[in-house]
Parts: sequence; structure tokens; C-alpha cells
Amino acid sequence: MTPHASTYDTAAKRSRDMRPLKGLLPFMLPYRGMVGVAVLALLAAAGATLSLPVAVRHMIDRGFSQDSAASIDSYFIALFIIAGILALATAARYYAVTWLGERVVADIRSRVFGHMLSLSASFYESTRTGEVLSRLTTDTTVLQSVVGSGASVALRNFLLLLGGFVMLVITSPKLTGLIVVMIPVVLLPLILFGRRVRKLSRLSQDRIADTAALANEALTAIQIVQAYVREAWEAARFRDAVEESFLTALKRIRARALLTAIAIMFVFGSIVSVLWFGATSVIEGRMTGGELGQFVLYAIVTAGAFAALSEVWGEVQRAAGAMERILELLDTRPEIADPEDPLPLADRQGHIEAHQVSFCYPSRPDERALDDVSFQVNPGESVALVGASGAGKTTVFRLLLRFYDPDSGVIRIDGTDIGKARIAEVRDRIGIVPQETVIFSASARENIRYGRPEATDDEVIRAAQAALADEFIRPLPGGYDAYLGERGVRLSGGQRQRIAIARAILKNPPVLLLDEATSSLDAESERKVQEALDRLLEDRTTLIIAHRLATVVKADRIIVMDRGRVVATGTHNELLSQGGIYARLAELQFGHDAPARAAV
Ligand code: ADP
Repeated sequence: MTPHASTYDTAAKRSRDMRPLKGLLPFMLPYRGMVGVAVLALLAAAGATLSLPVAVRHMIDRGFSQDSAASIDSYFIALFIIAGILALATAARYYAVTWLGERVVADIRSRVFGHMLSLSASFYESTRTGEVLSRLTTDTTVLQSVVGSGASVALRNFLLLLGGFVMLVITSPKLTGLIVVMIPVVLLPLILFGRRVRKLSRLSQDRIADTAALANEALTAIQIVQAYVREAWEAARFRDAVEESFLTALKRIRARALLTAIAIMFVFGSIVSVLWFGATSVIEGRMTGGELGQFVLYAIVTAGAFAALSEVWGEVQRAAGAMERILELLDTRPEIADPEDPLPLADRQGHIEAHQVSFCYPSRPDERALDDVSFQVNPGESVALVGASGAGKTTVFRLLLRFYDPDSGVIRIDGTDIGKARIAEVRDRIGIVPQETVIFSASARENIRYGRPEATDDEVIRAAQAALADEFIRPLPGGYDAYLGERGVRLSGGQRQRIAIARAILKNPPVLLLDEATSSLDAESERKVQEALDRLLEDRTTLIIAHRLATVVKADRIIVMDRGRVVATGTHNELLSQGGIYARLAELQFGHDAPARAAV
């Protein structure tokens, strides 16, 4: 199942389902010991809390009576010991449970991210990555709060509620009966009103999210905003959204304030009534003062537990929803996977063959991006792919890299069907220089080494020299250790390209896929990039998506594509003399003087 937006919506609706929380178990299992510590500490703390009121009763009834002044000490000592146990057990519980929360969520985060890296291109095509990422952060944070406290709060209060109630009945069945009768009267308005408050706070959250989205949009496009002088307009738009969210918050605040008043009124009203009744019983001798004290303490414990439970319940529900989404993501299988018995690739020669390959993108099943495409590229040959935009050139690259599998036909590298080989082994033979170079926010050295992580510093430098990148890297502050800035903002376009070329040279693959940059560089950078490319292309099988006349003229062969089909192959001059699509394309893409220049 692909977890795109609609799946999230249904998951939210199903959030009352607690089953997804079971998915946490495998993540907890490695930490059984810590879970044990948490449960023990939990039981000890609950036991201590529940025995406190009994100790208090004895203290009041015996400790304050005249007969034995000495025995008062032992009751106070008992109280001390219980308090000590409570303190230790609570600290141990806090430590164990929070530790578990952090640990388990860290594991889940790494697992999910690792899994996302393995998913295929088609997943990323149908999924809004940003949304999945942000949900991932929020979902794991929700989980963290539940595993890291919510679950233990729930369990502790469940124990306290149960134990407290039993002790209430034992202490005074009559008073307990009175409470049981009063509960619905107190709770009903609270529940009804509580629902309204919850709904309002959800609305308020949504409004806040709206403002965040607005701000994000404006700030990511800050240069456009400023270039069109729309700052005031964006600011006003944001202000409106903020006001809107304030008004929604105001409704929530009012409801909440009223809820607080009602809650205090009803709860205290009922407590006072019960106390009144209890006090009368003490005066009439039907109960001791200590018993009343014990009863009141148990009532406080029970009520507190009940309140905490109802509070934490919503959180547990949210966590179930969060876990469900995470499990959905983890259950998504990559569509491109290694075969069971991968065939080894033959010697690294750099032979490429596409045989009657047809392919439709999963999102456009009726339109053939490639239609019966066949071609071969011999070791060391350099072949240019030419065709109008949308002809299928990039798709050829994607299939060679096995980002997708063809619907029919085979692609072979060095004689082996790449669908039958290990993905990593296939990709290991291919180097890629994309149109837009990807620079990671790391040093120049690390960026070049991305091509081959085990390369030595010397090899990195040699690759940089071959790519004519050494000359601009050395003068950078820090040289090879210079941080290149996010997405390489500290480099010019030509320099970024040379980094990409160095990366490919370092990887030294037998096959190179080069998507020529369309953005024009100044003549000097252009010459440098061209020189670097020439070195990269030497002795390598190269497939180039060509945008420049010089490239097609130099290529050993040109494959002309049109609407997913290979329509012609030959050298520049051959194809020109045939007229047809290529001649028209050459004129359009490479300028009117192209044929003339090439003829020279
Ligand atoms: P070129 O590189 O020659 O410009 P492409 O290989 O990118 O062409 O595209 C070939 C066809 O496939 C086009 O019709 C394009 O719209 C379509 N296409 C490309 N990428 C995708 C995609 N990810 N999902 C659906 N259709 C796509």
C-alpha cells in the first residue's frame, strides 16, 4: 500500500483502533530488561501510593490517641519508609520509561529512514515526500510521548484507579455508594463540554498549521517575493491567517475557561457533600476520624487517577494512529528489488544493450514513454541521445539505472539482463553526471568522495585535478575541507559541474550517463567543463543526452528519439544528409548555422 495523503486521512478516522500499537512490540523486545524494570517500579510505586492512606489512618487513630505516646514513632517511621519506596520507585519508573521512549523512537526513526531510502522511484512519484517526512517527525514525536510516559501514566493510573476503588469500598461502602451515585451527575456535563473543547483545540491546531504553511511558502520563495515587491502583501496574508488562528484559539480559551469553572464547581461540590456526610458519621460515632481521613485520601487518589487516565487516553489514541501510519510506511515494499538468485555481471567492459524495450510510467499507464526501443553501445563508444523534450531520453537513463523495470524487452549491461542482477552491482558500473549537480552540505572532499567512499585523499585530489576542480577548490578557505554550503550555494554553476565530474572520475565506472547541462555558462567555464568532460569520457562507454552542437559532432554515433521511439541512428553528417527529424532538430536545438558549421 502506498501511504499517500488519502491513506493518512483514513488512518486518522480509524484512530480509535488500538491494534497498531502492537506494532511497537518488536521494537520493545530488544529492551525486555528495561521493560521489566519499568513494570516492577510501576507496581512498587502504585503499591506504596495505595498503602499511604492506611498508614495515615493508623497515625490519626492511634498516634493521636492518649494511650501510647511511644507508638506514634513507629507509624511515622512506617510513613517515612513508604515515602522512601515511593520516591525510589517513581524515579526508577521515570528513568526506565523515558529511556524506553527515547530508545524505541530512535530505532523507529532510523528504521523508517533506512526503509525510505530503499523505496523505488515510483513510490516517490506518487507520494508527497515532504508530507511523509513531516508526518514522520510528528508521528514519531507522538509515539515518543506515549512510549516515553503516556503508557506508564496510563498503566499506573489504571492500577491506582482499580486499587483505590477497592480500598474505598473496604474503607466505607456507604460513602463509596454515595460517590458512585454522584459520579454520573458530575461527569456528564464535563464529558459533553470536554468534547467541545477538544474539537475547538483541533480547529485551532489546524489554523496554526495554516499559518506555518503560508510562512513556509513565502520564505522558500523569498527572492520571488522580494523581486515582485510583494512583501507587504505576503505580510498581510500572514497577518490575516494569524488573526484567524487567534480567533479560533479565543473560542477554545472561552470554552476551556467555562469548563474549568464547571469542573471545579461540580467536583468540589460533590467532595464537600461527601465530606459533610462523612463528618456527620464521625460525630455520630459510626466512623473514626482516621477512617474518614483514609477515605478522603483514597478518594483523592482514585479521582486523580481517573482524571489522568482520561487525559492520557486521547494521547494513546493519537499514538495508535501515528503507529498505524508508520507501519504503513514500513510495509511499503520497494517495487524494484534484487532477484532471489542474482546473476553475476560479466567483466567490466561497458557494453550496453536495449532490446525491444517498452515502458509506461506507473502514473501514466496508457502512455508509452518508451516504445520498442532497441540500441547498442559498444565498449568505449560515445553515443549522443537527441530528441525533442519528452522524447524519452531521461527515461532511457532511468531504466539503465534500474529505477524502473521495462514493461517488456530487456536491458543488458555487459551481457547480463540488469533485471536479473543485483541492483548495487548494476549501479556500480554506471556513473552519472546529471544536468543539475547535487552538492551535499559537506566539504569539497566529502562531496567528491561520494563517488567512492573508500577512496584515499590522494585519489580524491587526483580526480579533482582531472576534473579541473582542484584549481578552484585549493583557494577556498579550508581547501578540500571547505564547506560547500547547502546545495553548493557557495559554488558557481560551472564549478558545481566540475565537482560532479570529479565525483564520476573518482568512481571510475565503465559506463557513463551524462545529461548535458542546458544552462549556459560563460565561455571560460564552458571550456573548462568541456575539457573536464573530455577527460571523463576517455575510454568509457558514454551515453549523452546532448544539448550542444559540439557534443553531437564529436559523438561516435547519434540516436535520434521521437515520442518514445528510436527514429534514426548515425553520425551528425550522415543524419543531416538524410534530412528528416534530425535535420529539423539540429536546426532548432543547435541554431540555424548548425548544418553549415558541422560541414566544415
Ligand atoms: P526527455 O528526457 O526526452 O525530455 P523523458 O524521458 O523525461 O523525456 O519523458 C518521456 C515521457 O515520459 C514524457 O512524455 C514525459 O512526460 C513522461 N514522463 C517523464 N517522467 C515521468 C514520470 N515520472 N511520470 C510520468 N510520466 C513521466
